[in-house]
Amino acid sequence: MSAPAPLPSSSIDDERTSFSREGLKRAFLDHLYYTIAKFPKIAGKNDFYLALAHAVRDRSLQRWLSSSAQYNQAAPRTVAYLSAEFLMGPHLCNQLINLGLADTAREVLAEMKLDYGEILRQEEEPGLGNGGLGRLAACFLDSLATQQIPAFGYGIRYEYGIFFQTIIDGWQVENTDKWLRYGNPWEIPRPEWSVEVKLGGRTEPYNDDAGRLHVRWVPEKTVSGVPCDYPIPGYHVNTTNTLRLWRAEATEAFDFSVFNRGDYLGAVNKKVTSENLTKVLYPNDETTQGKELRLEQQYFFVSCSLQDMLRIHLARGSAIAEFDRKFAVQLNDTHPAIAIAELMRLLVDEHLLPWERAWGITTRTFSYTNHTLLPEALERWPLALFERILPRHLELIYEINARFLNDVRIHFLGDESRIARLSLIDETGERYVRMAHLACVGSHAINGVAELHSELLKSDLLRDFYELWPQKFSNVTNGVTPRRWLALSNPRLTALVTRAIGDAWITDLPRLRHLEEHLDDPAFREDWRAVKRANKADLAALLLRRTGVKVNPDSMFDVLVKRIHEYKRQHLAVLHIVTLYLRLKSGRARDHQPRTFIFGGKAAPGYHTAKLMIKFITSVGEVVNNDPDIRDLLKVVFIPNFNVTQGQCIYPAAELSEQISLAGKEASGTGNMKFAMNGALTIGTMDGANIELREQVGAENFFLFGHTAEEVRQIKQAGYRPMDYYQSHSELHACLDLIQSGFFSRGDPELFRPLLDDLLQRDPYLLLADYQSYIECQEQVTQAYQDTEAWTRMSILNTARSGKFSSDRSIREYAERIWKVRPTPVTLLNGNELEQTLK
Ligand SMILES: *Cc1c(COP(=O)(O)O)cnc(C)c1O
Repeated sequence: MSAPAPLPSSSIDDERTSFSREGLKRAFLDHLYYTIAKFPKIAGKNDFYLALAHAVRDRSLQRWLSSSAQYNQAAPRTVAYLSAEFLMGPHLCNQLINLGLADTAREVLAEMKLDYGEILRQEEEPGLGNGGLGRLAACFLDSLATQQIPAFGYGIRYEYGIFFQTIIDGWQVENTDKWLRYGNPWEIPRPEWSVEVKLGGRTEPYNDDAGRLHVRWVPEKTVSGVPCDYPIPGYHVNTTNTLRLWRAEATEAFDFSVFNRGDYLGAVNKKVTSENLTKVLYPNDETTQGKELRLEQQYFFVSCSLQDMLRIHLARGSAIAEFDRKFAVQLNDTHPAIAIAELMRLLVDEHLLPWERAWGITTRTFSYTNHTLLPEALERWPLALFERILPRHLELIYEINARFLNDVRIHFLGDESRIARLSLIDETGERYVRMAHLACVGSHAINGVAELHSELLKSDLLRDFYELWPQKFSNVTNGVTPRRWLALSNPRLTALVTRAIGDAWITDLPRLRHLEEHLDDPAFREDWRAVKRANKADLAALLLRRTGVKVNPDSMFDVLVKRIHEYKRQHLAVLHIVTLYLRLKSGRARDHQPRTFIFGGKAAPGYHTAKLMIKFITSVGEVVNNDPDIRDLLKVVFIPNFNVTQGQCIYPAAELSEQISLAGKEASGTGNMKFAMNGALTIGTMDGANIELREQVGAENFFLFGHTAEEVRQIKQAGYRPMDYYQSHSELHACLDLIQSGFFSRGDPELFRPLLDDLLQRDPYLLLADYQSYIECQEQVTQAYQDTEAWTRMSILNTARSGKFSSDRSIREYAERIWKVRPTPVTLLNGNELEQTLK
């Protein structure tokens, strides 16, 4: 017998993945033919997009494989960022920027008479998140990779992401988001690393051979989790981390016992049911519903992810007891908080560690980021539902709780009300499991996402925990990645800034400060205005395409885009518009400044008030836009389906950023940061990161209005009476009366009655109390805008002083203070070197 032929060493063909123009062009045409099965004459735009995406992906692979190989070899301490949402935005443009291939790709397409922007617009963005929280996770992945920190993002691969919004007759209509319909070149499924997840059933005690007592979970069903991987390249570094999203599959394609009984359709049905688990993203932002499938989704992705980390950990040759030395697991809000009980289950039930050891590992592993102060957003699960799905975890939670509450008793002997408040189980009425409490008890670090928010956590929402463990609490103010939100979204500003101060700001954002040296240069200010004007013209063209409304690019662009929510107070901005409209109609408008009000954002489908707020915006827009007296003086547009792709066009074109939430309600906000970076001035309240933004850019470059969080507290305590404001403020009175008359609802006084009644009777978000201050502040904005040179200076200063709000800074703070991880640079390996890492 002849010896088997030696395996050829894996070859990485440098020619095939060359970064040169010729190389990229060759690869693009090859993929069009061999991957997409088209040739240029018959190919459509999406075919060209897919061919380019494959060519670019090939160029990411060597870095990705090099990163994985070196991580596996050196087993560095690794971050696992657990998040039920990742709102990534389109991948291709980000890959091109981070790989340094954008100009090359533009040239290659131009040579073939293809439009770069148009080809990139073919990508359906993966809308696997609701808003700020999911987008934060995406910015963090970019910063982790750029700072060369070994990291995984772990989440859910929803088949349908956040719904696609259209506006029909002024109302939001939801359509499914079939983002996968034309294929997804960025995803690499890894079925060989699938894991099994149990659900339902019961538990039973048993004794092992040595007579020790253990518990076995006998599930009602099992589901298979298939990892779907996405490469996350850092900016101009070799580090390429992994976003691993889990897809649910039936454990067996067919249930053979049912099949053998002849029930073929019954067997297939079971498969369909399992796969429903990752079918759709819940479209609620800042609210929870306590739905069974949602708890199953959360447990599913958390269990998959922890099993995956343990597999990797053991494969790297580390001992189970050192898990917390190798992995730092961040909980992005409470959605993944069940991970605390799941790691305990894996360590105690499956790896047979004693409780105390397992608990030490668990608490050293996890840290928890809180994202909200709204009570309706705090997750809690009815006990019966929880027990039905996760019977073993409920037992573990009871045990965690018993030990925890005993600890509390030592510190606060006899304080039974405190114990009831701290308990992991809410027993004030129907019984619930409190996920935020589980997260606090099972984590070594707890943080809020802006200074005010972190203070309010300590003084209000998590006060009892703060009194118990003050050392666990800290603040990490959010940030956004300057790669996507400047370099990629705003190429004109990027070019201007880079010409002035070089390009080091892209990875060191505080360097934007050097722009201040150009403040007194009239030519620079002229260029600055030209950039904004061109971005506004682009947005005007988009608005015309999407809404049919023609706006004047020389008017002030006043923008409010974010999820629609009462606490965010989009309806306060509408009251301002109605006020201006009344002033214009009655000839009382002094030096009126033409303004275009641009709104965008989705309402949760079951949130009726938010949907009515959209109708309110569009209805006022319809009247104002079609009033011949008003012409170009006021325009109101609602751009449908606000998402990352649209944001990339909107933030760079904004001149005024509306950040008008009631003080004490917005945890941080990140839209505020994107606007300021792109040179918009902010009109805002003392809420979330607005406070830090104002501190950075200077009070004189920020339009502040409204009551502070402390004043809000006092007003509410004294018994807030919105009707008093209505009766004492004639302009407010006139606005509300005009709306109530049916003027904006084709004569129907009932349409907006729910909104108005709520404002006059309860007004929980204090619109009426903040109205006057807001209107007066808007008058200051108008005056300031009319001094073009002064406005330009303020705009430049906003960009120049936004350096703090890079997510690179946020990630550095997490890495140093909470995760204790350090950068691990990656070297590029060829085929032979990759294989060497396995020796
Ligand atoms: C940044 C961003 C958000 C968050 O906006 P806020 O103004 O902070 O609420 C929501 N959605 C998208 C698409 C974003 O890009």
